[in-house]
Amino acid sequence: MKQSTPLPTPARDSTSVNDHSSGRQQDHAWPAAAAVRIAHPSRAPGAPRTGRGRRRWIALLRSLCRGAWRYALPTQCALCGNLSHDVLCNACDETYWNETRLRCPRCALPLPRNVATQCSFCVQARPAFDATVTLADYAPPLDQLVANLKFRSRIELGRDFARRLALAAQDLPELPDALIAVPLSAPRLSARGYNQAWEIARALARRLGVRADPRAVVRVRDTGQQALLGATARHANLAGAFALRKTVRGQHVGIVDDVMTSGATLDTLARMLKDAGARRITNFVALRTPRA
Ligand SMILES: [Zn+2]
Ligand SMILES: [Zn+2]
Repeated sequence: MKQSTPLPTPARDSTSVNDHSSGRQQDHAWPAAAAVRIAHPSRAPGAPRTGRGRRRWIALLRSLCRGAWRYALPTQCALCGNLSHDVLCNACDETYWNETRLRCPRCALPLPRNVATQCSFCVQARPAFDATVTLADYAPPLDQLVANLKFRSRIELGRDFARRLALAAQDLPELPDALIAVPLSAPRLSARGYNQAWEIARALARRLGVRADPRAVVRVRDTGQQALLGATARHANLAGAFALRKTVRGQHVGIVDDVMTSGATLDTLARMLKDAGARRITNFVALRTPRA
């Protein structure tokens, strides 16, 4: 396992959009400016605007322009196809994003009513991660949103997932120090052109004001279709699939993905991060597959 470059310190990172926005993996070392972090106001009145302040204003202007453009030219709701000024129309938003299920705080599986502890799976075999934040079950019709993000380049859905995950994260006992996205293999990233998990992670990092690094963890081996394998085979298939490129010692790391199915991938990544000294791991997944 190669660990050479520490995650950039807050003093060095400040940009919001960078060359890695597509999640494409590049050969050179990850530059400090590729981190994603909300810049806080630091300029005294009358003082010249710093690079960080300028980038913050540019990001704000971009956001305003995007909002104005969206309002002027309504698009189609990603679920019902009706005209909408947002990713989802108001009716779909109110109908489908209304989850109130009690979930296992560690793995986010739905819990029976009045059972406020961990699920039986986490009690029997505790995963390496400590907590999971999710928005809803991976089930119709919300699974369409993931399919649209993953296979039809609806990148704005990644930003919408991030907005909702950031709200859900407010209930956590502590926010992570940095986020990583579950990486794709190089051939799959090349074929798709972007990593859907990174599209969520970069927007979530911006909203939470934490660092994010598309190169902190890389997939060094293509593991194929995990869904076709049983639970034991999934873990075996993932052995040696990932490599850590940054130092995470003592940090609370958030792992971001679009869907959590068995949790084997997230458990493998969390174990690797914990072995490298990470203090705490929290998963951020848009949707969670319930167990049969
Ligand atoms: Zn709709
Ligand atoms: Zn659980």
